[in-house]
Amino acid sequence: MATLRTTTIGSLYRFREDLLESIDEAIAFQSSLGMDIISDGEQRTDMVSYFAESLSGLSVSNGVPFIADKVELKGDASDFSKVKDLAYIRSKHPDMDVKVAITGPTTLGMTCGSRSAGSHYGGLRDFTLYEDIADALAPIAESLADLGAHVQIDEPFLSQGYGDIKERVALLDRIADGLPVERTSVHVCGYVGRYGVLSHLMRLENVSVVSLGFAGRQERPNMDVLGDARFSDNGKLLGAGCIAVTPMSENEVGDAESVCALLESTARAVGPDSIAYAHPDCGLRVTGKSLVAIILRNLRAGVDLFGRG
Ligand SMILES: [Zn+2]
Repeated sequence: MATLRTTTIGSLYRFREDLLESIDEAIAFQSSLGMDIISDGEQRTDMVSYFAESLSGLSVSNGVPFIADKVELKGDASDFSKVKDLAYIRSKHPDMDVKVAITGPTTLGMTCGSRSAGSHYGGLRDFTLYEDIADALAPIAESLADLGAHVQIDEPFLSQGYGDIKERVALLDRIADGLPVERTSVHVCGYVGRYGVLSHLMRLENVSVVSLGFAGRQERPNMDVLGDARFSDNGKLLGAGCIAVTPMSENEVGDAESVCALLESTARAVGPDSIAYAHPDCGLRVTGKSLVAIILRNLRAGVDLFGRG
């Protein structure tokens, strides 16, 4: 069995004041800790503000995002911050395996619309809001893929469950339509065993990797529903979250043995050939700064331990 690859979900703490120096350091940091697929590190801002600050119809006031009008892509996708940052990374590392995350329509719409859904939409239940967001995100995803990146759609809110979960998951296929399926993934954190979330994710046509967490308290029960999802039959690979991102101190960080044990359990549930890569349960933006390197080091050591069987 080939050694499993490693990656992060995407976000890291901000390394430096200067943006480009900060991106450089985020890349070097991940490489030095043995990550195989490198993220942009989300050095500008958080997963909602990237889009709330840049998409037409979304806005931010006093740090709180809101919906002001119909959501649309402003200008050209190549002007979008994440695409520009990827182009910068590409200019320095033309052959690096890079992954860039975009925030999915349900998470973005629910977060921005919680204060005000604006007058264009009939409130948070108006599904055209999420369709508009998906249509604004699609050209961004395409630009990222054209630059050779793996594209990950982050939809943490899906695990909360919705009556129209089927339609909400289908929006991910709408964004991913035409992208290289082998480089397209979706990340959902929390427990996905309720409301049919996982089984709907399995039916996605344009997404090959479904990334889930298994280490955190909320995520642990995902292991019990993993086998029923039939990853292999559905042509899906698992992104295996195998170390928690919320330790309060160094002795709470999962060790290599626990990472390895979780990988062994996921491999039993989905089959050893159905794991795309190992990663922390979620992003590391708000994780204690001093613990982030320890988490990634233990992740790497656990994957190496798993590889030695
Ligand atoms: Zn997450």
